[in-house]
Amino acid sequence: MENYQITQWCHRFIEEQVKDGDYCIDATCGNGHDTLLLCRLAGSDGLTAGFDIQEQAVEKTKERLREAGVEEKVRIFCCGHEKMREQLAEDPDCRKMLEKTQDGYGSVSCVVFNFGYLPGGAHDLATKAQTSLEAVEQSLELLKKGGIISLCIYSGKDSGFEEKEALMEYLKGLDSKKYLVIMSSYYNRPNHPPVPGLIIRL
Ligand code: SAM
Repeated sequence: MENYQITQWCHRFIEEQVKDGDYCIDATCGNGHDTLLLCRLAGSDGLTAGFDIQEQAVEKTKERLREAGVEEKVRIFCCGHEKMREQLAEDPDCRKMLEKTQDGYGSVSCVVFNFGYLPGGAHDLATKAQTSLEAVEQSLELLKKGGIISLCIYSGKDSGFEEKEALMEYLKGLDSKKYLVIMSSYYNRPNHPPVPGLIIRL
């Protein structure tokens, strides 16, 4: 537990949530760790869509999925997550993720946001407040009843502060009758520890 990572906290909830046959979205593929977890959990009957703006991240993710032998049930888009809806609509398989139930809920079980920059990559290609907010808003609409959004929010040195502030403000304002928002913290860590969080569609 000494080197406990923020993603481990999120992965526990994701593992509890995602079942065989589920639809999932990795909104920030990066090196593909979260995409792979989603694909494994959703199994051969599920479908996962992944987004990243960097070709390098897309290639890394595809390679990881290929090595694990799960590339059949995943679509990776080199595209900003703020264009999630239109991108899913264009793909014949992913279009199913936009379907609504009769009572107005979506069909997606889990959306993962691991904000910030690609580890070891360019900081100016990190996620940004405005586009992150747009993507979270679209994700909320796609969630099924009981569906979750997992969030890892980073800030420090030259990046992430504006985004963190915008996200925290936005999440605080979400309708508590429709969504449960739980934010955690590294309570006794100095400086700017990452913030893990969870949104559940009620
Ligand atoms: N989840 C990843 C993993 O498992 O390795 C790590 C994600 S990394 C912290 C954040 C990623 O977000 C970077 O690869 C970056 O290119 C990507 N990104 C930045 N802006 C984006 C956007 N508008 N839409 C989608 N991805 C974006």
